Amino acid sequence: MKKYNLKKTRRRQQASEFFGAVQVGNVKVAKAVLEREPSLLYETTGCHSSALHIAAGNGQVEILSMLLERHLNPDVVNRYKQTPFLFAAIYGKVSCLKKLIDFRVNITMCDTLQGRNCLHYAAYYGRSDCLRVILSAAKTCPFVNSQHGYSVFVNKADYVGETPLHIAACRRWPECVRILLDNGALVSASTGVYGLPGDTPLHLAAREGSLDCVGQLLAWGADRLRRDASGRTPYEVALKHYHNACAALLNPSSPEPLVWPALLKLTSRELDEGAKALLKQALMEANREREKIILKGFGGSLPSASHSNGSKIFDTIYEAISDTDVCCICFDKVCTIQVQDCGHQMCAQCTLALCCHNKPNSTIASITHPICPFCRGTIAQLVMAPKLKDDHDADNNTIGTRSSKLRNSSQGKQQL
Ligand SMILES: [Zn+2]
Ligand SMILES: [Zn+2]
Repeated sequence: MKKYNLKKTRRRQQASEFFGAVQVGNVKVAKAVLEREPSLLYETTGCHSSALHIAAGNGQVEILSMLLERHLNPDVVNRYKQTPFLFAAIYGKVSCLKKLIDFRVNITMCDTLQGRNCLHYAAYYGRSDCLRVILSAAKTCPFVNSQHGYSVFVNKADYVGETPLHIAACRRWPECVRILLDNGALVSASTGVYGLPGDTPLHLAAREGSLDCVGQLLAWGADRLRRDASGRTPYEVALKHYHNACAALLNPSSPEPLVWPALLKLTSRELDEGAKALLKQALMEANREREKIILKGFGGSLPSASHSNGSKIFDTIYEAISDTDVCCICFDKVCTIQVQDCGHQMCAQCTLALCCHNKPNSTIASITHPICPFCRGTIAQLVMAPKLKDDHDADNNTIGTRSSKLRNSSQGKQQL
């Protein structure tokens, strides 16, 4: 009996030495302990987390690598069916996410705590960098394809019906909201089951009073008139929680926001990155002007960060202005967008005006395909104007010094 207890104590000591080394990333000690006691690889902690969980959650990518190479099951789960990949998403360990993706983990696994997957958790903690890595991996992940596909993965509902977008909106992470919308999250997803009314992401953003999230969701076409299970519109929800500025934007009688065009929404994955950034910036600016006017009467102020820190590319549009660069539709802005295949150019604002529509006429507008205003030809694709693209590519290394210069020239231009 005494001998057995001694053995047990020794084992416990070795396990704690091993897990301690894994946690702090001491590869040398971890390897040495494993050599003495290889079965420690399969040991778990109090809540049944494995060494892989601890390494992934603590961002110890070197140890993680070492463990994975020893053929440990990369999808091993703890008591709550959480995988090491989920741990890496929860704790925001991007390098560990990437390493696990290299080992072809199943990124679709959900836990039994709330039925959430890695996107839910990344959205909950505002891990926008993790979201990007996961969403990019999901496009080619065989597990995603075999389990109803990409869209189902992005719009997976947890036990209470919340998608990752609901969670990002509720937790007030506008950057996460934007990334998810950009990658196929449904703006109108509802927590209601069997067609019953429930919360949309807009209801949750209204409840939490996040102006930025409300703005993003509205620009993506969120419906201001949708009612939740208690029959409230997002406007009424914002009022109930005393978020007056949000309520002003959500008030169905205030002007409709500009909505990211349905046509571009469908093609946004293929849309030229530069052109997309320019168009999004133009849309945000147009909506921001509109929001300013609405909020004036409410004493609300707009948060400055995420609206203004948009693409630096946009600043470059004021670079090297010449008469030939000026948009021939508005004679105000510079041509930044080129229509393909005809090659005609116009500014981002005019392009949006051409493709954009205000709700609720979205269904009609999305059917008609926009045509080039100069030659009436079909718009096959929108790209960044070649001159602008050249400037941008050439100056990628010195964008910091250039952008301040450009900002000055852009101020100069606005005063004209
Ligand atoms: Zn124009
Ligand atoms: Zn044309």
